[in-house]
Amino acid sequence: MKIPEGDPNERSVGYGGRPDRDGRVTLDSCIMDEFSNIGSVACLEHIKHPISVARAVMEKTPHVMLVGDGALQFALSQGFKKENLLVEASEKEWKEWLKTSEYLPKANIENHDTIGMIALDSHGNLSGACTTSGMAFKMHGRVGDSPIIGAGLYVDNEIGAATATGHGEEVIRITGCHLVVELMRQGKSPQKACEEAVARIVKLTKNRGKELKDIQVGFIALNKKGQYGSYCIQSGFNYAVNDNSGNKLIDAAYYLK
Ligand code: ASP
Repeated sequence: MKIPEGDPNERSVGYGGRPDRDGRVTLDSCIMDEFSNIGSVACLEHIKHPISVARAVMEKTPHVMLVGDGALQFALSQGFKKENLLVEASEKEWKEWLKTSEYLPKANIENHDTIGMIALDSHGNLSGACTTSGMAFKMHGRVGDSPIIGAGLYVDNEIGAATATGHGEEVIRITGCHLVVELMRQGKSPQKACEEAVARIVKLTKNRGKELKDIQVGFIALNKKGQYGSYCIQSGFNYAVNDNSGNKLIDAAYYLK
């Protein structure tokens, strides 16, 4: 996770992440371990590795979430370096965007993404983490699902783990990853649990009179037995699996055909 965060060419997380509409790169990240220890930062600026700050929140504070300037001050107190995260390519894109200033987070237009990881270790313990710069050109202060435990990430070491990507507002609306884990608790496979969470978003979107084609959300899930699954609203998402058989990149199944 720290590799893409530190890569200026990976423009949806960490250093090089796309800025908000004021030209500020604000990062969201969280982490959860097998003991249900949690840590999270939201709207954090100037720190290349928000996941490491989230981890420090988990390990070194009595709290679970720090935001904005408080998160930055905490990071600095822990020895993290203050840096400019706005790379030239992102600044150029932002200046282009300013000409119309049209904020339209569109499905599968590559101006947003999240790195979410869920893992089952050799002791059979589950954990997870995610990191993102969120939706490009969002309002300053906008926070997505990724730093919210239960929305963008959830781990229950007795059951399974899930993480999400896509339009954070929709994931938060259904407390997405907690829902996926609870569905697995009821006996659903990781695949079926992801499908049901997506179905919930589909239904609410229709009920709210909104267009489904404008929304993308994807979940990945892993259970205690090491079975995994994924489901999205639209095509265009893939996920990587690393297990005893090696690495593979899998195109996620999707709802809107
Ligand atoms: N879920 C992230 C957010 O809403 C963005 C993404 O995964 O595309 O901030």
